Amino acid sequence: MAEVLAEERKLLEVKNLKKYFPVKAGILRKTVAYVKAVDGVSFHINEGETLGLVGESGCGKSTTGHTILRLLEATGGEVIFDGKDILSLNKREMREARKDMQIIFQDPYASLNPRMTIGEIIAEPLIIHKLARNKEERREKVAWLMESVGLAADHMNRFPHEFSGGQRQRIGIARALAVNPRLIIADEPVSALDVSIQAQVINLLQDLQKKFSLTYLFIAHDLSVVKHISDRIGVMYLGKIVELADKDELFNNPLHPYTKALLSAIPIPDPEYKKERIILKGDVPNPVNPPQGCPFHPRCPMAKDICKQVAPELKDYGNGHFASCHLLEE
Ligand code: SF4
Repeated sequence: MAEVLAEERKLLEVKNLKKYFPVKAGILRKTVAYVKAVDGVSFHINEGETLGLVGESGCGKSTTGHTILRLLEATGGEVIFDGKDILSLNKREMREARKDMQIIFQDPYASLNPRMTIGEIIAEPLIIHKLARNKEERREKVAWLMESVGLAADHMNRFPHEFSGGQRQRIGIARALAVNPRLIIADEPVSALDVSIQAQVINLLQDLQKKFSLTYLFIAHDLSVVKHISDRIGVMYLGKIVELADKDELFNNPLHPYTKALLSAIPIPDPEYKKERIILKGDVPNPVNPPQGCPFHPRCPMAKDICKQVAPELKDYGNGHFASCHLLEE
C-alpha cells in the first residue's frame, strides 16, 4: 500500500519554469539580450521517486535545479512542493521550506569550507534550523549522520582536505541529510569522481533513499550514470525538455533524435556487439541566439524544412512518454 501511495503522490511539480539571464552591453550596461537557460520546463516527481535530468553541458539542467530551490530566482513559471507555491514564499518561509529541499553539489571540495572541520560542516544546518537541544545531542547526530553515509565518526575533527573525493561527496550528502529532507536535488554528484567511486556514491544514494524515504532529482550529463538510479528520465536541450519517459522505455524506445544520439554514444562492454554511433554535427548553439524552429535542427540528422520554421511541442505519445519532434507527428 505504501508503495502505491508513493507512486501516486506528486511531491514536486514544476510548471513552465523559466530562468533568463540578461546580457548587458555598453557603458550603461543596458540589457541587449537574454540567455534563456531554462525556457518553459515542466515535470513532476512523485514521492519516493528519482527523476534523472540529462543533457550536454550548458543545456540548463543545473540551472533548473538551482531555480527550483531558489538559489537563483525564476523568471517565470511555478514550483509546487508538497502543495506549497515555492516561488511565492518570503525569506523566512523559504528558509523553513529548505529543510525539506536540499542540494548536493557537483564539486564536493568547493562546497565544503576548508577552514571548518567535518563535524562543524555537518553540524551547521543543525544549528541554523535548531535541530539539536545542546552540544552533546548535536555531536551525537553528527556521528550518526557520518556513519549513515559510511564515514568513521571519529574523523569528525578532520578537515576536508584530509578526505578523498568520494569521501568529500559523502560529507556533502551527510550535510544535506542533517535536516531530514524529503527532496534532494543531486547536481552532477558523481561527475567529478573516478568511475569506481561513482558507483559507490550512487549505491549509497540508493540505500539512503530507501532508508529515509527520499525523493531525488538527479542531474547528470551522462545517460549511463542516471540509468541506474532513475525511475524516469528527462532529456534537456537548450533550456527545454525534449523527451521524458520511464527509464526502460527511454532506453528501449527513444523517440527524439537527440536522445538517440546520446544513447548511441554509451559504450557497450561487449566487443561482439556493434552499434552505430550517431555523430552530431557542431556544438550546442549559442543560447543567446538560439536557432528558430526546433532548437536541435542545425545538428539533427533527420531535420526537414519545417524544423527550421516551427518549434515542435512536447507531446505525450502514450504511458507518460513525452517527446518534441515533428517526425513523430507524421
Ligand atoms: Fe530533428 Fe526536426 Fe525532430 Fe527537431 S523536429 S528533432 S530537427 S526531426
